[in-house]
Amino acid sequence: MSLIVQKYGGTSVGDLDRIRNVANRIAMQFAKGDDIVVVVSAMTGETDRLVKLAHKISKQPNQREMDMLLSTGERVTIALLAMTLQDMGLSAQSFTGRQVGILTDDVHSQARIEEIQADRLREALSQKIIPVVAGFQGINRKSDVTTLGRGGSDTTAVALAAALKADLCEIYTDVDGVYTTDPNIVSSARRIDKISYEEMLEMASLGAKVLQTRSVEFAMKYRVPVCVRSSFNDHPGTLVTEEDIEMEQELVSGITYDKNQAKVTLIGVPDRPGIASTIFEAISKENLNVDMIIQNVGQAGLTDLSFTVPQTDAARAETILSSLAKEIGVNKVKITENIAKVSIVGVGMRSHTGVAAKTFTSLAAEGINIMMISTSEIKISCVIESKYTELAVRTLHDAFKLGKDQKAKSETI
Ligand code: ASP
Ligand code: MG
Repeated sequence: MSLIVQKYGGTSVGDLDRIRNVANRIAMQFAKGDDIVVVVSAMTGETDRLVKLAHKISKQPNQREMDMLLSTGERVTIALLAMTLQDMGLSAQSFTGRQVGILTDDVHSQARIEEIQADRLREALSQKIIPVVAGFQGINRKSDVTTLGRGGSDTTAVALAAALKADLCEIYTDVDGVYTTDPNIVSSARRIDKISYEEMLEMASLGAKVLQTRSVEFAMKYRVPVCVRSSFNDHPGTLVTEEDIEMEQELVSGITYDKNQAKVTLIGVPDRPGIASTIFEAISKENLNVDMIIQNVGQAGLTDLSFTVPQTDAARAETILSSLAKEIGVNKVKITENIAKVSIVGVGMRSHTGVAAKTFTSLAAEGINIMMISTSEIKISCVIESKYTELAVRTLHDAFKLGKDQKAKSETI
């Protein structure tokens, strides 16, 4: 007998028929004798609908009220799914984040889980009741509702799996698993059978939307095996797990892209100790996520500094930096929005050389200019003009022979 956490995303519970389909899957697993904890998202489009509603009332809705509003989407699905299971003769009970004891910090709309009590879940499980838990939500120490960021139900599921020491966390979605790249761009993209935590973490944070990044951090930290699979068929999906030798033989595992990026350039920055720290401290205080920092070689006591932020944060970055610019004597703050970050990820890069050269040569052959580059042991990211995104992804997918019809492993570069 195993304990399995199953998370069903918005499309999997998008209407009543789909909720019934999910209930059948749960019933089948339960009949095998396993203990199951279910986590659900809001029905497809519901969270977006609520966001729009709020923005019709206010340009900048209060974040606390926003969390109160958005957390209702998941409440609808837990109740409907619990009722469906009950109608099928199973014992099921719905739980909000608060009832489960998901305690978070105070950062509304981007809260981090600090503690999970889960007493009520343990109690339910001991009585053979199937708990159906609202994803994406928790409470802070004042008992105010918080949410975990868009896509946060994944994190609820993996965090619960970690807290309950579950044997497996299944993430059910509308695709068969994690692909070598977005199949909407490259039709020959291949489903990956097995991927390491580290690679998945890079892929999620570099734009693969299949899992929320935070959920992969949890999985890696607590060593929770995660299986990403479809709720509409029986394909085995992709297992996110410990790295093994096989994975290292693969030169590149996946190509991701992120169009939600903007480049911030500070022109004429005084070139002296303490300036960079002042700039980035001001930015981190506002919870802005900075990436790919590049500083040019200084000339005549001045330098230029560029970095990327999520496009959704660009306006805020501009406001903060424009006022700071005056204080510390920066000449100009410039925001460039039509950029994209294309990345290649693979643990094989640790032990193979030439991956960077091949990446740059392939892009150059297509006339794609690289504006910024950043690397880690297992990834290379390039910032390019966003109109070249699809071409760059296709070119790199092909260059590293990741397609279905190509040789899966390319030992030589
Ligand atoms: N309903 C939330 C969202 O749409 C959380 C989730 O689906 O994971 O972002
Ligand atoms: Mg999701």
